[in-house]
Amino acid sequence: MKDNIKIKVVEIFRTVEGEGSWVGLPVSFIRLEGCNLRCPWCDTPYSYDGKTFKEYSLKELFEKIEGFGLKRLCITGGEPFLTKELPDLIKIFLDSGYKVLVETNGTLWNEGIKSIYNENLFIVCSPKPPSYYIHPDLIEYISELKFVIDEYIKLENIYRPEILEKVKNKTVILQPESNLKDRVKKALILQDELLKKGVESRIIPQCHKVLGLP
Ligand code: SF4
Repeated sequence: MKDNIKIKVVEIFRTVEGEGSWVGLPVSFIRLEGCNLRCPWCDTPYSYDGKTFKEYSLKELFEKIEGFGLKRLCITGGEPFLTKELPDLIKIFLDSGYKVLVETNGTLWNEGIKSIYNENLFIVCSPKPPSYYIHPDLIEYISELKFVIDEYIKLENIYRPEILEKVKNKTVILQPESNLKDRVKKALILQDELLKKGVESRIIPQCHKVLGLP
């Protein structure tokens, strides 16, 4: 384990996964500092305020996560790909038999992912407005696509066949913004439109919020 690396971390906690296809599973979280986007409905602005973080060595992070006694880890942000040592961080957990999920907005890429990638690494990409850009090098490593259904999102932001065909989980996740009723209605319409194009989707709320969990 490289001992000269310091990682900026906003929070470390154990909870129940509230989003995507790991929903309901017990999982440890590392929230990394920094984000390159500023989404209007972001629910973790403290992750990029530049002051809510502590620096940890890889060894310290590993010991903290081991202390939770789980073998599933979610690395989130902010935007985890801003941390250039992300592959080193992922690797220590993959090497110890963890399943590791990385949540990314999809705009960035790190070549180091190629050499550590295996079937226990799940990259969940949640493209963000207004561009919904996904870095071309990331696409073949994406396990799942997840979209926040807000006031503005359109079918063409989700239905991009050239990307969908390369993503491993063919079922797209639709997540109504802040579990609002209007957004649920919109998600139902989009789900139907996607189905007409041959794409299945799951509407999943932010379950951790429904449950009152972090
Ligand atoms: S990409 Fe995520 S963390 Fe960054 S501003 Fe958007 S919602 Fe917030």
